[in-house]
Amino acid sequence: MKTHSNKMRVCTALAVLLLIFAISAAALAQAPDKMLTKANIEAAINEAYTKFKDVKEGENASYIKELATVDPNIFGIALVTTDGQVYTAGDIRSMVSIQSVSKVFTMAKVIEEQGHQAVMDKIGVDATGEVFNSITAIERMRGKEINPLVNPGAIASTSLVAGADSSAKWKSILQVHSDFAGRPLALNMPVYISEAGDNLRNQAIAHLLLAYGRMYFDPVQATDIYTKQCAINVSAKDAGIMAATLANGGVNPVTKKKVVSPETVMYTLPVMSTAGLYDDSGIWFYNAGVPAKSGVGGCLIAVVPGKFGIGVVSPPLDKAGNSVKGQLAIKYVIEKLKANPYWIQPK
Ligand code: GLN
Repeated sequence: MKTHSNKMRVCTALAVLLLIFAISAAALAQAPDKMLTKANIEAAINEAYTKFKDVKEGENASYIKELATVDPNIFGIALVTTDGQVYTAGDIRSMVSIQSVSKVFTMAKVIEEQGHQAVMDKIGVDATGEVFNSITAIERMRGKEINPLVNPGAIASTSLVAGADSSAKWKSILQVHSDFAGRPLALNMPVYISEAGDNLRNQAIAHLLLAYGRMYFDPVQATDIYTKQCAINVSAKDAGIMAATLANGGVNPVTKKKVVSPETVMYTLPVMSTAGLYDDSGIWFYNAGVPAKSGVGGCLIAVVPGKFGIGVVSPPLDKAGNSVKGQLAIKYVIEKLKANPYWIQPK
């Protein structure tokens, strides 16, 4: 009798031990998610803000004259989780023109309308490894194998957006940006006028693509719509929500609206990973491990798939044209929250 109950006791103890082991193994496997508590997120973004707010490196873009006049001290961070929680630090009210970050949403619109194969076939998806407005990249590839996140591929994407005429295409592009942000976005008129009067290089790019049979609408009008899309105004909070909509498989986590399909997101994020920060994309990806996209207005977004999106606005740029504080802040937050998807807890 005594032996029997001893055996029982040993068995129960073993079962309890096994249970504890199973629970802690599961907890370990979930460790990165457990990082995403309110306290951790708030600490990460507040620390990033205080750490980098006084950084003075970089300069506003000036090749678009109006951008040189934007306050270089604007600095806002917004992290938005896929369950719709919005965390912010710094200036999240000031707006800057979205510039090249818009390329992501127009690309997504084209994939949504025509499928991912069309983008492969009609534009290309490979990194050019050159500056965003490179003409030699087009020439080298005879109009092929560029991608929607640098100017030639972006103007080609704009030309592919469905719409009977220029104004229908523009309406559709503005709408998709607004849906990603979860509120009606508007044009920054001075920036649009400033760039429209001075975008001969982009006009040249559009015409060169036309010569190679890779422009799908009137090149002058396509460049004009592209210039408008670049002049859409966003705050850091808008940018964070837009990024979070990508992180959430195309459903805006705040408004719950389905903006694009999960498949569209699946084909958009890889191009952000390989070409989101122009010719510095590889350096960014090496250091942060997440898809991101920058714009010369100082906006930078990054996406941690399934977890959160982050948007930063800070106009001074480095030599490659990427927001200096944007890169510092996002890298800091990703590292702090152990959100780099390549950070793997060994089993
Ligand atoms: N509108 C800008 C241009 O075409 C966008 C460039 C950018 O943000 N990198 O030059």
